[in-house]
Amino acid sequence: MNKDMICIVCPVGCHLSVDEHNHVTGNKCPRGEAYAIKEATDPRRVLTSSVKTVFNHMPRLSVKSKEPIPKDKIFDVMNCLDRILVSDPVTIGDVIIDDVLGTGIDIISTKSIDLRYNGTKDVIA
Ligand code: SF4
Repeated sequence: MNKDMICIVCPVGCHLSVDEHNHVTGNKCPRGEAYAIKEATDPRRVLTSSVKTVFNHMPRLSVKSKEPIPKDKIFDVMNCLDRILVSDPVTIGDVIIDDVLGTGIDIISTKSIDLRYNGTKDVIA
């Protein structure tokens, strides 16, 4: 059975279809073919979320996956993020979880926590 999707690689938004032999139709360029085959065989998404911290001026720290995560692992990774409590200052780009759930992909900070602007650390848990 064919898988239908809209190409999100560029704003044109071609309607793509992939058959069981990974033959792609509807694409106006090769990038759409590559996107459709990847989406049909190994769909992935960059995960953006946040984790709890002990800092009262920034109770949640925004994070993201450094690379796209397999779509079927996203729910499990979200559950994993729910259990994280950051207790040290971090800089944007720092690894918050290394190799999350054995995916080989790190969860990194997308903000910094700087105690100079607050100086206190309230332990929540
Ligand atoms: S197939 Fe090519 S032209 Fe069409 S949306 Fe994808 S990238 Fe853009």
